Amino acid sequence: MRLSRRITGIIQGGSDGWDVYYRANRLSDEGLDITHLTIGEHDIGTDRSILDAMHEATLAGHTGYSAFNGKIGLRERVAQRVSERTGLPTTPDNVLVVPGGQAGLFATHHAACDEGDTALYIDPYYATYPGTIRSVGARPLAIPARPDRMFQPDPADIAPHAAGASSLLINSPNNPTGVNYSRDTLMGIARLCQDHGLWLISDEVYDTQLWHGQHVSPRTLPGMEAQTLVIGSLSKSHAMTGSRIGWVVGPEEAIEHMGNLATHTTYGVAGFVQEAACFALDRGPDFEAMIAAPFRRRRDLVLRLLEAQNTVRPIPADGAMYVMLDIRATGLSGEDFANRLLDTHHVAVMPGESFGQAAAGHVRVALTVDDERLAQAVGKLVALAQELTA
Ligand code: PLP
Repeated sequence: MRLSRRITGIIQGGSDGWDVYYRANRLSDEGLDITHLTIGEHDIGTDRSILDAMHEATLAGHTGYSAFNGKIGLRERVAQRVSERTGLPTTPDNVLVVPGGQAGLFATHHAACDEGDTALYIDPYYATYPGTIRSVGARPLAIPARPDRMFQPDPADIAPHAAGASSLLINSPNNPTGVNYSRDTLMGIARLCQDHGLWLISDEVYDTQLWHGQHVSPRTLPGMEAQTLVIGSLSKSHAMTGSRIGWVVGPEEAIEHMGNLATHTTYGVAGFVQEAACFALDRGPDFEAMIAAPFRRRRDLVLRLLEAQNTVRPIPADGAMYVMLDIRATGLSGEDFANRLLDTHHVAVMPGESFGQAAAGHVRVALTVDDERLAQAVGKLVALAQELTA
């Protein structure tokens, strides 16, 4: 039977960029001691107190169908959190609860784009972006952010593609580069969106992991509230990746229509997960800082370890749980280097090319193992780079 072009076309080019990751997992399954620095998953599980709250919520009966657009208690908490963090008054009518940031990416593009519309996004990008855009029938168009600008996007590079496009997706702090977009960058992007009537889709799932500068949510910039859709999630901020809980914040009308999408796709998020999310948010900023702290420490550790050499050049991450490394001096592509590192030293990192062409010749190191193991892995990575350069 013929399958739709829309579904068979989600992944293009036969690879979804995760080959090294899958191979590393297979080698682990075969018994090899692999250091996994690939995906953005904490090395701690969800906190026991949150799991207890989830368990209690199941026993208290939150196991039936839940409000499709999210429980009012959770939408209130998200609205309050966003109001406090950004200074922009936000109400529960501006909030849709979704099963994780990924579902938010799908819902926002569904809301912003018609069939065949152009949806812009910045390269390097989180690996699901183009496939998510294709899955709503839109046409993804990547705009490179250049390594010589430390991957800070230049609005002048976006401008030629803005006319006729429907949306622009940005992500700050950024996966994979760790860059935090400056206010100037965001002001330039906001002006473009206003000039060309683009929806700005702002993926802010790393907003609690910021080591330098200030996190500016572009929804707060003058005139942008009416055309910005913000994606948030408890996956990274609260180590709740498996609970699948996040939100979209935006104008009431857009939120209402995305609520209809939820009714016709996910049918809402499990009530006991939403109760646990309320509990998690009530633990406040200190808890979020505690979850973020190891990534900052490990980011500093990696940069320190790389100081003594200049074969591998780090992009000093402003935030998020990764450090991007420029390995172009070796003459290898990010993919060849990552495969070589896996085979010879049993260290798995993500090739920059998995995140787009702008990050070619780079690898992304996820800071998701204990400090000692991370230091050993970085030592092996540098040794391989130096060997190849010599
Ligand atoms: N956006 C970015 C930039 C991510 O890195 C991720 C996950 O790694 C997601 C969205 C999806 O997160 P969630 O677990 O909330 O679906």
